[in-house]
Amino acid sequence: EERAALESWAGPGQTADGKPVRILANVADGDSARSAVEAPVEGVGLFRTELSFLNAKDEPSVDEQAAIYGEVLGAFHGSGPGDRDRYVVVRTLDAGSDKPLAFANLTDEENPALGVRGLRLAFDNPGLMEHQLDAIAQAAEASGTETWVMAPMVATVAEASEFAGQVHRRGLKAGVMIEVPSAALLAHRMLEVVDFLSIGTNDLTQYTMAADRMATDLAHLTDAWQPAVLQLIAITAEAGRQVDKSVGVCGEAAADPLLACALVGMGITSLSMASAAVRPVGARLGSVTFDQCEEAAEAALAASDPMAAREAVREALDA
Ligand code: PEP
Ligand code: MG
Repeated sequence: EERAALESWAGPGQTADGKPVRILANVADGDSARSAVEAPVEGVGLFRTELSFLNAKDEPSVDEQAAIYGEVLGAFHGSGPGDRDRYVVVRTLDAGSDKPLAFANLTDEENPALGVRGLRLAFDNPGLMEHQLDAIAQAAEASGTETWVMAPMVATVAEASEFAGQVHRRGLKAGVMIEVPSAALLAHRMLEVVDFLSIGTNDLTQYTMAADRMATDLAHLTDAWQPAVLQLIAITAEAGRQVDKSVGVCGEAAADPLLACALVGMGITSLSMASAAVRPVGARLGSVTFDQCEEAAEAALAASDPMAAREAVREALDA
């Protein structure tokens, strides 16, 4: 019965008692977007633009970039499940560290995860950001798809403010990723300058726990169920709730059906994930009430370790 519910889940994202939650896809390019749109999603919560350029020697021109972004935006034109308007969140280049780009990361770094990556690159090389935003705006205009733009690896409100100014000048919605503990702690101030937040739990976990996300022997630390990570997510979600702005999760945590329900209980308004996770997450969320999600959130936040948090959430959700 559970399996049938899972396979037949067709959206839109909501709890059993009708609290809407946007269920979105993470995509890398036109191909993955055209395949993601087959799932019952209401858009894209994370378009990782840097993945198109891992083999590029030179910076792609504005027109070349616009063509690539246009493929993703074009795939998500119109409305999705529940007739909700679709939208696509384009992330500006997250180059550096585990994803170096030949034309962007010009210096060797001792410690690239803590180095010039993501938005930090744009301040070193302003042309890169200007060209990319021009290309995104061009593709948004041509496709007619609602387009939001967000920056990765933001650590300060000044960075968020500078970025938002550049995006707003082009008439698009601006947001930042919450991937660094400093940004989570200042979520309420970030929201004074941006339209939305999106929590990247992969990096937020790495930087909160000071544990390399690629290190398999540190898996007990690189776990979004860690109480310190959950606290930072809750702080961020609460900041969004206070001003009624969208706060999503686009890291791996959103793809875990039990954790996803707890995130919704904290006030998270959208969940973005690999297409394969869409039905399991959507079906689980549709089987519990918002009250249960809030109970799950409270129980997870009170737990002393990841195992206790998982157990407590399972209990709150009757899972
Ligand atoms: C994250 O850090 O959680 C995230 C979504 O971004 P990426 O995995 O691309 O670093
Ligand atoms: Mg990240």
